Amino acid sequence: MQWYELSFLVSEEASEALAEQLIRFGSWGLATEDPFELKRMIEDENTTVFVDADFLEGLPDYVRVKAFFPLREEGIQLVPMLTEEENPFAVIEQRLYQATDVDFCSLDELHVEAGKMLEHLGQFLPLGPGEFAIRPIQEEDWANSWKMYYQPIEISERLLICPSWIEAEAKEDQLVLYMDPGSAFGTGSHETTSLCLRLLDNYVDSVDKILDLGCGSGILAIAAAKCTGRRVDAVDIDPGAVHVTKDNAHKNTCSELIRAAVGGLDKRFEHTYDLIIANLLAEVLVSLEEQLRVAVCSGGLLVCSGIVSHKLPLIEAAFTVENWDVIETKIENDWVARVYRKK
Ligand code: SAH
Repeated sequence: MQWYELSFLVSEEASEALAEQLIRFGSWGLATEDPFELKRMIEDENTTVFVDADFLEGLPDYVRVKAFFPLREEGIQLVPMLTEEENPFAVIEQRLYQATDVDFCSLDELHVEAGKMLEHLGQFLPLGPGEFAIRPIQEEDWANSWKMYYQPIEISERLLICPSWIEAEAKEDQLVLYMDPGSAFGTGSHETTSLCLRLLDNYVDSVDKILDLGCGSGILAIAAAKCTGRRVDAVDIDPGAVHVTKDNAHKNTCSELIRAAVGGLDKRFEHTYDLIIANLLAEVLVSLEEQLRVAVCSGGLLVCSGIVSHKLPLIEAAFTVENWDVIETKIENDWVARVYRKK
């Protein structure tokens, strides 16, 4: 379907009132890109959002508010205007079940209305740039369009990751991991995952019991199972991820090797493991150090990943030399992965 996007650049102060006006005018959907909100989120001391150092400076100092309208035969379609007296539930019903007494407007009328909205707001709020533009957009197949960007990735001589909908061109003896990440993290294209896979490739052959802690798409567990032909355990606190892991294990014909459960370390299948791979965030790894010390057997290995380089000191303060030896550290871009051996 063809849509029109009406997009405004305004001050933070004006953005909320503008959004309100757009809904009243009859927009079918709104998207607000608010760099101020983003800044507050990133600067929060408990943030789990990580960005490059110069990202904040590059952010604009205005808000973009976008409103969307479908184009029908009769013109640009509006959701009927709300009035104070209207029963709000009737309006919701109208929206849900495709309102019948809908209004339409022309492109010119939309221009005029957008101008009026800014004029009205400008009377009592600073507008910032106070600009708007209208452009036609095509509805995309969002559920599938990301697949275009996911291509085979060679991790090592031994491991090739291949989207499940592509025929792999693997070298002789190369193991192919067919991945369909669905909604779970772990396509292999993120540094934190590829670092884990390379480390896994180095250490996995010499170990017996393996746990993938925070399995996401299951990519690490599947790699471990394919490399060793042995059973691998996987847990994730997100039930969706466990579902995707099982699905991917099936696609890779290693379902019988992978035991997956919903939960954290408390839901692990064995008391101790020879190797735990944990691609989590630095803060999460730190909070789990004591439990990991119990779950990794003496002389066993822990692969930690998901560590932004400036957070490495946090890890070092928690994984102390009394309990853990550093075996190897790998860095890619701003991400660090480290192998520890428990004493
Ligand atoms: N192992 C995959 C996914 C890593 S993303 C890969 O390397 O690509 C991290 C995953 O850990 C997420 O799916 C998240 O749900 C899960 N997770 C976060 N905290 C956890 C915890 N305390 N215990 C278990 N899983 C956790």
